[in-house]
Amino acid sequence: MKCFSCKESELLPVKLEPGLPALGCNDCGGVYIDLLTYREWNEDRDDDETAVTEGALVEASESDSALICQRCRKIMLKFKISGATDNYVDLCSTCDDAWLDKGEWQLLNQLQLEGKLTEIVTRPWQKHIREERAASSLENRFKEELGETDFDRAKDYASWLKSHPKRREIENLVRYIRRG
Ligand SMILES: [Zn+2]
Ligand SMILES: [Zn+2]
Repeated sequence: MKCFSCKESELLPVKLEPGLPALGCNDCGGVYIDLLTYREWNEDRDDDETAVTEGALVEASESDSALICQRCRKIMLKFKISGATDNYVDLCSTCDDAWLDKGEWQLLNQLQLEGKLTEIVTRPWQKHIREERAASSLENRFKEELGETDFDRAKDYASWLKSHPKRREIENLVRYIRRG
């Protein structure tokens, strides 16, 4: 089977985890996962086995365009992994398989979502991400309250002030003016 992403190279057997075989592309680093195999691995594994990695998130690549399933030639659907990243899992619901771009499996591990792959590709998961995003977006709430013009003005002012060498003097001046 050819690579889902670069379509040139032949996919080769790789092992994502002990007991989780997949097919990988040596050129782009993407991996093909058969979700039946994945489910079996996920049911059998011990949840505590995977080590939690600290620090910055892995920089995983993301193919912007829709992928074509190399098994059935249908267009695959994209499902956002989490609100914390802009990475997507590509799914072919016909073949019940998934495509991950380079680094995305590591990203799932880092976010402790390696056991949630089949949940990510569902509507409730996607809905939850959208809701979470909306709730956490404090900026948007300010924007709504202030209106776009004043919001932009305040933001410009804040970023100008932040990097200004005479920041303290300016803040004093503003305080002085406000007191009238
Ligand atoms: Zn490839
Ligand atoms: Zn397919």
